[in-house]
Amino acid sequence: MATLIEHPCVQHKLAIVRDAGTGHKRFRELSKEITQFICYEALKHIKTREVMIETPVATAKCHMIDTDLVVIPILRAGVGMLDGILELVPTARVGFVGLYRDEETKQPVTYYERFPPQIKGGTCIVIDPMLATGGSTVAAVDLLKESGAENIVVICIVTCPEGIEAVETAHPDVRIYAAAIDERLNEKKYIVPGLGDAGDRLFGTSHM
Ligand code: URA
Repeated sequence: MATLIEHPCVQHKLAIVRDAGTGHKRFRELSKEITQFICYEALKHIKTREVMIETPVATAKCHMIDTDLVVIPILRAGVGMLDGILELVPTARVGFVGLYRDEETKQPVTYYERFPPQIKGGTCIVIDPMLATGGSTVAAVDLLKESGAENIVVICIVTCPEGIEAVETAHPDVRIYAAAIDERLNEKKYIVPGLGDAGDRLFGTSHM
């Protein structure tokens, strides 16, 4: 299941992020802001607990987050979304997954994996700005489930039907949140129209 965040504030920022003329500083700032909006929506139904708070005037019945949150950026572009989520939920723990694609088998190979202990029972948020073929995301979710994770959501900025289908087929229990579901992948497996190579645009490593 994919949820599209269609709010005009998100779509406005996405338009600037997509623009080939937007430099890495602005791209990074806007990616962070878009991520926060998407995460805000993705966490709408997480468990809270009732707390009584003494205001300067009286006792107020309030609600605080009662879910152990673990954020998992897929290296390297996922790192560009991390700060936005940690500003929203500062107590979240963080794990990392690094994957590359084997040029012969075309399968993702894990080169780095580091998850916090005891992730069972919490909510894991996998972040990668571009959910393209879905290979890395499916592999990251596989690893998380092997480590005990049960409740997993995926947050991306742009996806496409191929990416959604790959995740839905492998992990029908995982919900995807995105600011855009684009048309398709091109022959280089870039999302069309997309926004180009998100990692390069985030970190200023584009040689184009
Ligand atoms: N990764 C990117 O950075 N961009 C795409 O379009 C697809 C995968």
